[in-house]
Amino acid sequence: MTTIIEDLLKKFEQTTALQNINISIQDGEFIAILGPSGCGKTTLLRLLAGFDSPSDGSITIGDQQMSNKYVTLPPEKRNIGMVFQSFALWPHLNVRKHIEFPLLHHQYVPTDIRTNTAQRVDEVMDIIELTELANRMPSELSGGQKQRVALGRAIASKPELLLMDEPLSNLDAELRMEMRKEIQELHHLTNATIVYVTHDQAEALAMADRIVVMNKGEIEQIGTPEEIYSRPTTAFVANFVGKANLMEGTWESDQFTPASYPAITWPDLGVSISLKKKGIYPIRPEQLVILKDDQEGIEGQITSVQYQGKEIHYTVRADELDWVVHSGMIKKFQLGERVVLQLKVGVRNKQKDV
Ligand code: ADP
Ligand code: MG
Repeated sequence: MTTIIEDLLKKFEQTTALQNINISIQDGEFIAILGPSGCGKTTLLRLLAGFDSPSDGSITIGDQQMSNKYVTLPPEKRNIGMVFQSFALWPHLNVRKHIEFPLLHHQYVPTDIRTNTAQRVDEVMDIIELTELANRMPSELSGGQKQRVALGRAIASKPELLLMDEPLSNLDAELRMEMRKEIQELHHLTNATIVYVTHDQAEALAMADRIVVMNKGEIEQIGTPEEIYSRPTTAFVANFVGKANLMEGTWESDQFTPASYPAITWPDLGVSISLKKKGIYPIRPEQLVILKDDQEGIEGQITSVQYQGKEIHYTVRADELDWVVHSGMIKKFQLGERVVLQLKVGVRNKQKDV
């Protein structure tokens, strides 16, 4: 079922937490809501769950309107699963009882599950791979196991919408990587529609089918991870998602002339066509190449060299601007060396706007 969020507005007294929010989520899609702290991610999720009512606009799932400014269907009447950052487990219930709880107590449970609760609990225990630990209490589980219980509880009633609010941010780095894979597997196994809130751009790029980038209560851009990374439509997106060197300049018939370097013209950088006028453009660290200073380009000096294994990260200072350049291992430049910067041939985005 398609979930449609239309012209959503949410105000808390003086604060406008959300405005002009329009998103159409396909059945089975994995959507990441990405943005810095305070941009309205949790507010959006709470509205989707029915914990809060919109000030204006509407949320529709399938053919049922869930929320508008007059009526909000409460959470217990929606078949929605939620996973929180804090796990929110009940200390007095064991693993199996956590999975069973929503099936026995929630109003909206599909009939086939309600009539055969034990079978569904077994299935879910198997999916989250905790069958062996069914009788453990939360205090006897590791962080990753606790998060799997929270996931199992959320998917038990086969929700039409699975909402996750920064579910991995309380786990250490290694476990976070592992749980990313587990959540992706869960998505494949259940075909659930997932709305996944995160402030971590790497998580959003790695996991989502589409990313909604938010800033100050509004949507900056919606697109696939590839579109968001390669063709950001605003400077905010370019800078928030991945590292970008922002450069002012002008487009004219597929040639880019940086404002500070009128003698240099660069071919199509692969930015979105809506940006092709005078403005600020993102240039990714891997789109630049460092050359010896007897060649054409932006002249500068290497001010830092960081060996990263398969690549080297350089900072090149040119006319008081620090450029970040990620380069392969072929030629190593030294700290303090005079060099020039050029746009790398062959890494430009192939896709042409029409
Ligand atoms: P995020 O989850 O992206 O960090 P939130 O959705 O929690 O952001 O908050 C968005 C904005 O709305 C913030 O400015 C926050 O202070 C405000 N806000 C959120 N909930 C409330 C509330 N219950 N009352 C007043 N202001 C709120
Ligand atoms: Mg939040």
